[in-house]
Amino acid sequence: MSNDALGWIETELAELAAKGLGANIRTIDSPMDGWVTIDGRRVLNFCANNYLGLANHPRLRDAAKRAIDAYGIGPGAVRTIAGTTTLHLELERRLAAFKHAEACITFQSGFTANLATVPALTGEGDLIFSDELNHASIIDACRLSKARTIRYAHNDIDDLRRKLAENPQFRRRLIVSDGVFSMDGDIAPLDQLCAVAEEHGAILMVDDAHGEGVLGRGGRGIVDHFGLHGRVDIEVGTLSKAFGVVGGLVAGKKPIIDWLRQRGRPFLFSSAMTAPDVAACIEAVTILEESDELVARLWENARILRAGMQALGFDTGHSQTPIVPLMLGEAPLAQEFSRQLFARGLFAMAIGYPTVPMGKARIRVMNSAAHTQADLEQALDIFAAVGKELKVIA
Ligand SMILES: *Cc1c(COP(=O)(O)O)cnc(C)c1O
Repeated sequence: MSNDALGWIETELAELAAKGLGANIRTIDSPMDGWVTIDGRRVLNFCANNYLGLANHPRLRDAAKRAIDAYGIGPGAVRTIAGTTTLHLELERRLAAFKHAEACITFQSGFTANLATVPALTGEGDLIFSDELNHASIIDACRLSKARTIRYAHNDIDDLRRKLAENPQFRRRLIVSDGVFSMDGDIAPLDQLCAVAEEHGAILMVDDAHGEGVLGRGGRGIVDHFGLHGRVDIEVGTLSKAFGVVGGLVAGKKPIIDWLRQRGRPFLFSSAMTAPDVAACIEAVTILEESDELVARLWENARILRAGMQALGFDTGHSQTPIVPLMLGEAPLAQEFSRQLFARGLFAMAIGYPTVPMGKARIRVMNSAAHTQADLEQALDIFAAVGKELKVIA
C-alpha cells in the first residue's frame, strides 16, 4: 500500500495470519447442500445453517425462477420510495400467519432486522439489558440506539432480575436475548424472561435466528416452542438459515410492526429483498405449513449424530438443539481436527477464542435434514478416525 496512514492494515493482517486467527474462507463450487464441492472434491457438509436443506430445494428453486419471470430481480429502491411488490406483502402476511403473530415485516437480513429494531424502540435515556453472549448484530444494534446497555450473565434470570430492580428509573427498558445461542446450542429460558419482563414492565425482544424453522411446532420458532404467543413483544428471525434463502423478519403486535415501517432505518434507507428471494421464502413457508417432515428429520439426524458421537466417547457439550459442539479444548487441536476431517472428506469448522472462551475450542457440527442416514454413518466413521488419530478418544 502506498498510503502510509493505511500501513497498519497489512501489519494487522499479517499478525492475524501468524496467530492462525484469520478467516480462511473455502470456495464452494456447487449448491449449498448436505454435500458440497470444494477444490474439485465432493465433501460432506457440516458447516451450514441450512438446517432443513431448503437452500437447494427444487420447490424453492422453481419458485425463484417463476418470480423472476413475473417480477424481474431487484426492488429498484427502498420500499418507502419505489413502492413494494405484492410478493413482499404476501411473504409478510404468510410469515405472520405461520408464526401466529399479529403482523410481520421483512428486512434484507437478520442482521439488519436487529439494527432496525433496537434503535427504533430505544434511545437516549433508555436502558437495554442484553445477555452477555448475544449475537454481534444485537451488540451493534444496542450501540446504534444510544441507550445505555447493561450485560447480564448468560441465561441468568436472577442476575437479570437484580439488575432490573437496581435500575428502575428509566423511560423505557428493553430486555434482549438470542433465542438459541449458536456456539453452545443452548436455548434462552424465554418463559422466565417473559415473566421477568412482565414483572418489571420491560419490553422483551428475542432474536430467534437459530430457532426459526427449527424450534416449535413445524419450525414455528421459539415463541411457539414455549407457547408464549402474544406475550413476547418482538420476535426477530432470519430467512438465511433454516429458510435456506436470505433475509430477516420481525414479528409481533401490529403497532410495533407499523412503527418499524416508519422508523426502522434499514427499512427506510436500504432496498428490500429481491423478488426471487421473497418467492423462495414464501415457498419455504408453504413447505413448512404442509408438513413437519423436514423439521422432524433435522431433529432425528441431530439425535443420531449426537448419540453416535457420545458413544464414541466425544464430549458434545450441553446443546439442546441440532447444533452439536464437539468440545476439544485448545484451539490448535480444534484446527488440526478440522483439517484432518477435511482431508477425509468432511467439512466442519473449528471455532476458538475469541468467538468462544479460551480453552473451549471446538468443532461446531451443524446438522441438516439434507443428510441421509448413510451420510451420518459416514460422518461418524470420519469423526471416529480423526478422534483416534489425534487421541481425543480411545
Ligand atoms: C445468524 C444470526 C443473525 C444474522 O442473520 P442473517 O440473516 O445472516 O443476517 C442474527 N442474529 C443471530 C442470533 C444469528 O445467529
